Amino acid sequence: MRVAVFSAKPYDRRFLTEADQGAGHELVFLEPRLSPDTASLAGGCDAVCAFVNDDLSAPVLERLAAIGVRLVALRSAGYNHVDLTAARKLGLAVTRVPGYSPYAVAEHCAGLVLALNRRIHRAYNRVREHNFALNGLLGFDLHGRTVGVIGTGKIGVRFIRIMAGFGCRVLAYDPYPGDEAVAAGARYVPLETLLGESDIVTLHCPLTPGTYHLIDERRIAQMRDGVMLINTSRGALIDTAAVLRALKTGRIGHLGLDVYEEEADLFFEDLSDEMPGDDVFSRLVTFPNVLITGHQAFFTEDALRNIAASTVASLTAYARDGSTAAIAPDALVC
Ligand code: NAD
Repeated sequence: MRVAVFSAKPYDRRFLTEADQGAGHELVFLEPRLSPDTASLAGGCDAVCAFVNDDLSAPVLERLAAIGVRLVALRSAGYNHVDLTAARKLGLAVTRVPGYSPYAVAEHCAGLVLALNRRIHRAYNRVREHNFALNGLLGFDLHGRTVGVIGTGKIGVRFIRIMAGFGCRVLAYDPYPGDEAVAAGARYVPLETLLGESDIVTLHCPLTPGTYHLIDERRIAQMRDGVMLINTSRGALIDTAAVLRALKTGRIGHLGLDVYEEEADLFFEDLSDEMPGDDVFSRLVTFPNVLITGHQAFFTEDALRNIAASTVASLTAYARDGSTAAIAPDALVC
């Protein structure tokens, strides 16, 4: 297969090239994001390989189909950015990478909780300036606190295990409860109960029309005063404007984000020499109790190796017999 790899960074090039050893696909690495303007760069390719902020809306899919692309191989688990109905109509196959490393995301999430609670980001800056004062760095013991986990799939269950290890009481909500979360130490409760009883609320569900702005003004009002809210799933799960208002009043005491509603125009690029164009984002980063990372929760060597192996396996399976079955990394010898 000749494959146009969009949004290709040096690490994508490295891990995909390694995974392709022996598979023999022709990988064409392209730095631009996939968009209506860049879709034509896939001319002469059988497939495109896309990441989370590539545009896979109907107009882009139509352009890809028109120039002979037959497969969209996502190197992500989430597929909320793909118009699957349009892809089906156009006869475009879509594959993704399910559960490439739930540990990576769950561990990053725990990192956000620890850093926010103990103000490690602030302490780091202070100590560099020889400011050893502790005022403003007061945290709380995680042991004995209540953590609410919304979405108990692969990542949610790993996160439950970590927090149970700290001695937290873990509450969970998922429309499809599973035994694994209970075995990991959580107790399923209705969403309202979780919001009302949790000191820390964290999101691990996918972005769908049903979960868009799941955390809005009404849900924030159901949370404990001074709650810590963490989102490492998808930005649009929370209504950022409502969260910003709640930060100003102190209703939300800590905010940890690895994803942001409008991240497509920001994340994965070095914009440090440019004028900030997103007022909401600029305001968020002024709060000392807000910690934002740029969609890096997945970014471990293990995860990148798994993503690349699974993506190449999907290309090979499609080339062999048109299969689009999701190939989880743990099903591969890698
Ligand atoms: P998963 O499919 O294993 O689990 C998702 C869970 O959410 C399922 O149990 C599902 O029943 C549940 N769910 C669906 N609708 C819900 C709702 N309304 N309320 C509560 N739960 C609901 O997915 P996963 O591998 O655990 O990944 C979770 C999310 O993490 C992905 O959808 C993706 O958006 C995000 N993610 C982020 C990164 C990152 O780098 N930040 C990396 C990978 C995945």
